[in-house]
Amino acid sequence: MVSPAIELLRKELPVKQDSLIFSGDGSVDTGLVLVDIVNGFCTVGAGNLAPTKPDTQIEQMVAESARLARVFCDKKWPVFAFIDYHRPGVPEPPYPPHCIAGTDECKLVPELEWLEGEQNVTIRRKDCIDGFIGSMEKDGSNVFVNWVKTNKLRAMLVVGICTDICVLDFVCSALSARNRGVLAPLQDVIVYSQACATFDLPLDVAEAIKDTIAHPQDLMHHVGLYMAQGRGAKVVSNVSFTTP
Ligand SMILES: [Zn+2]
Repeated sequence: MVSPAIELLRKELPVKQDSLIFSGDGSVDTGLVLVDIVNGFCTVGAGNLAPTKPDTQIEQMVAESARLARVFCDKKWPVFAFIDYHRPGVPEPPYPPHCIAGTDECKLVPELEWLEGEQNVTIRRKDCIDGFIGSMEKDGSNVFVNWVKTNKLRAMLVVGICTDICVLDFVCSALSARNRGVLAPLQDVIVYSQACATFDLPLDVAEAIKDTIAHPQDLMHHVGLYMAQGRGAKVVSNVSFTTP
């Protein structure tokens, strides 16, 4: 059942969603970006920021992301995967310890583990929320910017978790960078709503935990999409591939 709150939100802050269709089997000018689809955020019981019980939105995000990743890899199209990754003892406020190096939390979920061996996949371990910032090297270069330029991408399709946190921050930074000409020839930043998810912390649960704010899943997922669209991202609700 859809709650009155989400119904009101969808009415007052509608997100316009299109379909994205890839046609043909030749080269593509769209890259796939996977944000933090790791055990620490997706696998039940895997850590402080993992779901505590099976979560439909997260399961759907993982399944759809894996479907897209498989097609992109079969066609040797460019894929970029962020992995949240923190050194022991280095906190990331306001979050509790998570995705600590050497643990299963900072490994891709079982459905995506195979990506590690694929030649068309660039994997970036990041120790901050925003993957754009997390792609910066000490010498000032940026691994993500280089990936866009090397592959001459005109669009990128963004999926992952959390819709309103790591996905949103990365999308906003990419849009700012695009607007400054840093990502040329990139034009479109596309968020796939069915392949994004966020965590669930209902108000009544959050109120019982010190210094914690509520984070109801459906509302925050919607807000994340709305904010991304407001900054200039395109949002799509389905992605399909036509056979040539
Ligand atoms: Zn983190």
